[in-house]
Amino acid sequence: METYQRSMKNQIRYLFIILMTMMVAVVSFIAFYYWKLSIDDMVMKIQEEANTAILHEIENFITTPLDMNERNSLFIKSGLVDINNADNREDFFSSVMQTAPRNVYSFSYGTRMGEYYGVRRNHENQLEFMKSDKTTQGHSKYYAANDDFSEGELRLTLGAFDPRTRSWYQLAEQTHKPIFSPVYKHFIMHDLALSASYPIYNVTGDLMGVMGTHILLSEMNQKLKEVVRDKNAIAYIVEKNSGELVANTEDESNFVVDQAGTIDRIDSMQIKNKIIHTALENYHEDEKPEFMEDTTKGQWYIKISELKKNGLNWLIIMAMPEDHSIVELKQSIIFSVFLSVLTIIIAIVIWTKKIDQYLRPIYELISITEEYGLGDFSKRANISKRDEVGKLGSAFNKMAEELEVLINHLENKVVERTQELERRNTELAKAKEQMELSAQTDFLTGLYNRKFIIQQIETEIENFGTKYDGFAIVMMDLDYFKKINDEYGHDCGDLVLKDTAMIMQQVVRKQDCVSRWGGEEFLVFLPKTTLIQAIEIAELLRSGIEEHAFVCKKTPLKATMTLGIAMYKDGLSLDEVIKNADIAVYKGKKNGRNQVCCFEQLAEH
Ligand code: GH3
Ligand code: MG
Ligand code: MG
Repeated sequence: METYQRSMKNQIRYLFIILMTMMVAVVSFIAFYYWKLSIDDMVMKIQEEANTAILHEIENFITTPLDMNERNSLFIKSGLVDINNADNREDFFSSVMQTAPRNVYSFSYGTRMGEYYGVRRNHENQLEFMKSDKTTQGHSKYYAANDDFSEGELRLTLGAFDPRTRSWYQLAEQTHKPIFSPVYKHFIMHDLALSASYPIYNVTGDLMGVMGTHILLSEMNQKLKEVVRDKNAIAYIVEKNSGELVANTEDESNFVVDQAGTIDRIDSMQIKNKIIHTALENYHEDEKPEFMEDTTKGQWYIKISELKKNGLNWLIIMAMPEDHSIVELKQSIIFSVFLSVLTIIIAIVIWTKKIDQYLRPIYELISITEEYGLGDFSKRANISKRDEVGKLGSAFNKMAEELEVLINHLENKVVERTQELERRNTELAKAKEQMELSAQTDFLTGLYNRKFIIQQIETEIENFGTKYDGFAIVMMDLDYFKKINDEYGHDCGDLVLKDTAMIMQQVVRKQDCVSRWGGEEFLVFLPKTTLIQAIEIAELLRSGIEEHAFVCKKTPLKATMTLGIAMYKDGLSLDEVIKNADIAVYKGKKNGRNQVCCFEQLAEH
């Protein structure tokens, strides 16, 4: 099939490809745009959720000692627990400690008189009573708790201890409200600790003492880890004022213990996690609580929240990789693009095949029309469908049919006319031939006329050569012809003329030419003939006439003729030769007619 550069097929195909691509591009863009928005929204929600969960967990962790203080302070404030009564006191402290969460290391009460009582968990998680009062001479002493939670044996005696010198006591005393101490290194456990203190006032508003719940912070690492585990996030807690690390989910040490057993806090600037490190640096610069951080591990969402509660001022740094959501998004986009491209390709293939299928009959029609145009009128369109192209094909076939009939009719007409023309031409040729013949013959006898024989003889004279034998002419005149006319009638005279002509033609040779010279006179031209031959032929002519029995109107009649021979000689003209023949005839007439007389043999010649 011929390919057309700007064919309808290509134009439809390219238009379809452009429209499909545009449509897919627009739809993809819109889908991607809203998709991105919803993904961003989802990512934001997950991040908010993670952050809220972390904050919630930290709040829970630190609210425990505050709650414990608030709840239990009522017992002392109301006098339900007499702190100076050992039994009363031991029951109170041991029951509080038994129900306390694991992160609570100790629970104590320091009076305004400098006495100090409390309970703690030792290394083996056993309860020990703490005491520093007059009975211990102001030293802090630790006693084992018996099974009935009464004070048991002395376990440890430390130096002088006055709770009023402790910061947790002093802060509560100064602020008159529940408050946290700064994070400090625990003086027995290798851990960071935090004390929640609660000032207790009597009804007159005088300070009775300060209740303290002391928690270890290492537990917080674990709690945070549990919160962020399924969220793939990391979290760090840093004291805002000191910049020291409080807790983290990355198993990074929040402090170091030297050989002497001293705890050194880790500064946030020493944090090994680079994302958190950079995040904190940025935060210190512009206090932006939320930002994205591009790292070698991909993009991270960072949120820094400040936790201010009862004297605590912590920075909670949460970092969450966008990896999983972005990867999913990218995979979805790639898959969507792949599906779109596949859809376009399939659509184009189907479209192209359909276009071919739809246009094939048109191309066939074009090919048939071209062949028809080149003269093959037998071609007809193949009608397979009754659609628009099918109708076009039918219309073409109908047109071709009618055109073929018209052309055939025209051809028949042409043949008819040609035959007619040929017939006319033949007739014309015949007429022309007839005319030419009649122009050179005599109508009565059918012999050549005078004009024709003169032309013949002149041509012979022109061609005359030295080796040529010459030619002879014989002039003939019927004897007493007037008399025949008179006796038998003019028509009988005509009959004699015709019969004479017929006899003459029978007698002469093939190359000889007989003509009617005029009236009852005839001239015979004998080319390449000697005198002797001429005499012989003339004699045959004479005797032929003489012997012939003419019959006119059933009446027999006889006729004779006198013949004069003249030979052509070089230098003579035709007129001279004819004149010589006439002379010879005249001589024959004079000599008695019915004889052959030869000019060359005349005596007077
Ligand atoms: P001669 O022997 O001396 O030739 O005598 P003649 O009678 O033949 O000669 P003449 O010249 O006197 O007569 C010739 C006649 O021939 C005169 C004429 O009427 C006749 N004739 C000439 N042409 C025709 C013709 O075509 N038909 C007929 N029937 N007669 C003709
Ligand atoms: Mg005559
Ligand atoms: Mg005569």
